[in-house]
Amino acid sequence: MADRTFKTDALVLLSRPLGEADRLITLLTWERGKISAVARGARKTKSKLAAGVDLFTYGQYILYQGRGLATITGQQVKEHFQYFRGDVALYPFGLYLAELTGKAISGEEPCRPVCHLLLEGWRLLGEDLDRELLCRAFELKLADLLGYRPNLNGCFLCGSPETAWFNQAHGSLTCKQCGGGGVRVAPDTVALAVRLLEAPLRQVRLLRALSRQKEELAGLTGSFLKYHLEIDSLRSLRFFRD
Ligand SMILES: [Zn+2]
Repeated sequence: MADRTFKTDALVLLSRPLGEADRLITLLTWERGKISAVARGARKTKSKLAAGVDLFTYGQYILYQGRGLATITGQQVKEHFQYFRGDVALYPFGLYLAELTGKAISGEEPCRPVCHLLLEGWRLLGEDLDRELLCRAFELKLADLLGYRPNLNGCFLCGSPETAWFNQAHGSLTCKQCGGGGVRVAPDTVALAVRLLEAPLRQVRLLRALSRQKEELAGLTGSFLKYHLEIDSLRSLRFFRD
């Protein structure tokens, strides 16, 4: 049964102890989407699996898919992203991207663009840039990859560029005259959201925003994601609320 064993690049989204010496990890894999896998003996100090089973690991894994949970039989770590562990202010941002991605990918479907997005997001968070803007860009791009790209090209009823509201259910904007309610967003915030959605993620390095714009952006993406995904249960959001 050769096809039961497969090799794939993956990112560790979640890692928790299992039994006496094992770890149960959730992997976002290049080949088969989101997979839960057991790393047997990984909590023993001499285990060859110990190095690659922590949250924020990027590696290549060899997995055996039996009848139950998959088992990790080999691995090669590529990146560790140690800075998330060494910086308490940075940790919630890395965790948030992991949790949001885990929520967005529901099963074993190929999702390479999402894998690349998360890998790049984790890498960029290690740089000196606006972390909040990075998260907003990540959210917009993730929504786009999942198939619900917001329509940010003017009022969707009359075409006016003087938009005032974002409607999360329609994923589109309206102007003051057309009304319709939703989340308040000024035209300069919409322009920023368009840039975040369309430019490569790394362009966030070059961007600056007013705190008012960042609040409006968070309202826009937050309401949109809540409408499509159940994100209220994400642990990382508690760090941002406190
Ligand atoms: Zn209008």
